[in-house]
Amino acid sequence: MSDPNVTPSARDWPYLADAERGALRELLIHGPLPRAEIARRLGVSRASLTRATRVLMEQSMITEGEVALRAAMGRPSEMLVVRHDTHHFLGVKLTGDAVFAVVTDLGAQIVASVEEPLVSTSVSDTVDQIAAIHARFAERFDDIHAAGVCLAGDLARVDGRQIVVVSFFLQWRDVPLAELLSERLGIPVTADNDVRALTAAEHWFGAGAGCDSLAVVTVGAGIGSGLVVDGAVVTGHHGRAGRLDHLIVDSNGPSCGLGHRGCASAYLPSESIVEAIGVPDLDYAGAVELARAGHEGAQRAFDDAGRALGVLIGTILNGLDPEKIVLTGEGLAVVELAGDSIDRSIEAVRLPSEQPVPLDVQPFEFTEWARAGAVVAIRSVLHF
Ligand SMILES: [Zn+2]
Repeated sequence: MSDPNVTPSARDWPYLADAERGALRELLIHGPLPRAEIARRLGVSRASLTRATRVLMEQSMITEGEVALRAAMGRPSEMLVVRHDTHHFLGVKLTGDAVFAVVTDLGAQIVASVEEPLVSTSVSDTVDQIAAIHARFAERFDDIHAAGVCLAGDLARVDGRQIVVVSFFLQWRDVPLAELLSERLGIPVTADNDVRALTAAEHWFGAGAGCDSLAVVTVGAGIGSGLVVDGAVVTGHHGRAGRLDHLIVDSNGPSCGLGHRGCASAYLPSESIVEAIGVPDLDYAGAVELARAGHEGAQRAFDDAGRALGVLIGTILNGLDPEKIVLTGEGLAVVELAGDSIDRSIEAVRLPSEQPVPLDVQPFEFTEWARAGAVVAIRSVLHF
């Protein structure tokens, strides 16, 4: 084991001063901007900003784009843009039986991807497998600066070390995954909870780009929710912030298997919907088809799922007062099949308000998880 206090520095990733990091972050989040606008947003002088952008250009991170004519100011203004041909990052999503990996550019656009079954769920096999994937990608991309790995589970900083406290799917406890991978790959590696990583991705590169407060809710095999408060993704003391998947919806409802009656997990996950319908050999896709065809039991199961989702969203609205809630995941059929039920239940739970519900439904592809891992890596080299 190497000295745990020495972590590899980001490969070829230069030291960036505050104004440089800030300018790059603004361009990553908001897209092309003129210098004057970046200076205004950061509260720095034009001269400081010019120095900062010169460094970013020398490092091949940004370039000058089109000239936008700004009528109000009466003079042309050169737009700065992030370069998409330099600087790469590795993003990995682990499930209980597979590894999904992508390489993205600095703007979090996927440029390569791979999907493999997990060799085994042992920690050492998993580290070996990710190292092999990294080595193959490194033959094509010689500028992979950092990696981010995400998985379902509780991840937190314990005594200064980033630890997978528990992962149910991988049956891991207290695994210093980021440290192990960082030693093997020779680049900084960050590990994070998958929903939190997705929240970080939505916060910089997705529907929530630039929102100071944001909630991301995922529906599918499980229920996830991630929170951004005052511009920062919330981790919580035990790495469990945003865990609303066992929120009680109806205390007389069915059991979730963890000792609650009628919590959101008893209604909303794909498996709970399938179980509630009670048709033999049914899978989730079949459940969606039945509900679309007007099957009464299937419609009722989706209605109940929608009600649970509405309680969850209404609770987040009350507790966080977010600028936006992004709803995504593999289980979005509930929005199509039980939209009214979701709306009614949000209204029943939320505090009286004239404001419309800031709900943004985003279609989901599974590669989003691995991309979210890369976003965590990008944010880590930029210290956000
Ligand atoms: Zn429960």
